[in-house]
Amino acid sequence: MIHFNIPPLYGTEEEKIHEVINLRKICGDGEFTKKCNQWIRNRTGCAEALLTTSCTHALEMSALLSRIQPGDEIIMPSYTFVSTANAFVLRGAKIIFVDIRPDTMNIDETLIESAVTEKTKAIAPVHYAGVGCEMDTILSIADKYNLFVIEDAAQGVMASYKGRALGAIGHFGAFSFHETKNYSMGEGGALLINDGQYTEEAEIIREKGTNRSQFWRGKVDKYRWVDLGSSYLPSELNAAYLFAQLEHADEILDDRMKSWNRYYSELGDLAADDKIDLPFVPEYCSHNAHMFYIKVKDIEERSDLIKHLKSMGVETVFHYIPLHTAPAGLKWGHFHGEDRFTTAESERLLRLPMYYKLRDEDIDTVVNGIKDFYSKRK
Ligand SMILES: *Cc1c(COP(=O)(O)O)cnc(C)c1O
Repeated sequence: MIHFNIPPLYGTEEEKIHEVINLRKICGDGEFTKKCNQWIRNRTGCAEALLTTSCTHALEMSALLSRIQPGDEIIMPSYTFVSTANAFVLRGAKIIFVDIRPDTMNIDETLIESAVTEKTKAIAPVHYAGVGCEMDTILSIADKYNLFVIEDAAQGVMASYKGRALGAIGHFGAFSFHETKNYSMGEGGALLINDGQYTEEAEIIREKGTNRSQFWRGKVDKYRWVDLGSSYLPSELNAAYLFAQLEHADEILDDRMKSWNRYYSELGDLAADDKIDLPFVPEYCSHNAHMFYIKVKDIEERSDLIKHLKSMGVETVFHYIPLHTAPAGLKWGHFHGEDRFTTAESERLLRLPMYYKLRDEDIDTVVNGIKDFYSKRK
């Protein structure tokens, strides 16, 4: 069986976790959390990074930091994970979905401005497959209408747009370290803050609405309840697991990139024959091989291909059911304009096995399975 995903394991995680156990300090914000935060700051250039219990929680923190109020409108693609929307719906906001670009599967930046109203408070671009959205356009719209930009960079760790790290371009960015992502701590994420003036507020929100972080630094003599907040900091055990991988982030990236490039070149013939479409990466984006997907003719062909590959022991999966068609999306969201590509493109997309240490021979098995499928198909 060739699995779709195997969570990353570098090999030094266990030894780091033992260090934590021996330190007798397993709650949040210990040495390993600090190392992870520093790694993120160094690698992305953000003003501050705070490890969180998930990307979902980093997005929720962003919604709190942006002071989203009931009735506010947030613009985002419908082709995304539920958390991008939920974080704002929890604050009473309404979600305005905008169509995607068929080439990158990212929000179509040319459609955003017409969706802006006086209620719009933020734009939440999602960097699908670790390929950057058109951030220059998005930032200029945000600037013109005084909106927050909150990047869902769950899939974008170690990827960049015009030399700027994904997650470190808008006001806030959210990383995921879930086990399906490039670097993992089981469940976890990080909030990236690009305007340092929000750091103190973010620390308070993350520490249950208290100024405990300032207290630890000796800035206040007792810590108290000062704002809204929750428990968004992960255990040191998880942070240690993650740091073992972040220390070798380049090596893990290189390995994934090798697999991605092998798929891309081996599937080139089928793409040249117009049987399938391959991912598109704008030249000024450097991606992180988070995902390798192909696009087939339609949903029927995709179902047949999934079955065919499964019969050969290859696990492939499709992705998001567009949020605007889901029960909660109908309740709390609204699709602005026409759904030209969101539904149609999502129904064509199929994700192939991709993980750290995926073997070349397994890639070849997947590729041959796809070639075999098309050779028998009219
Ligand atoms: C994985 C993912 C999330 C959620 O990440 P968690 O860390 O599991 O909360 C959010 N948005 C996108 C685009 C994702 O891929």
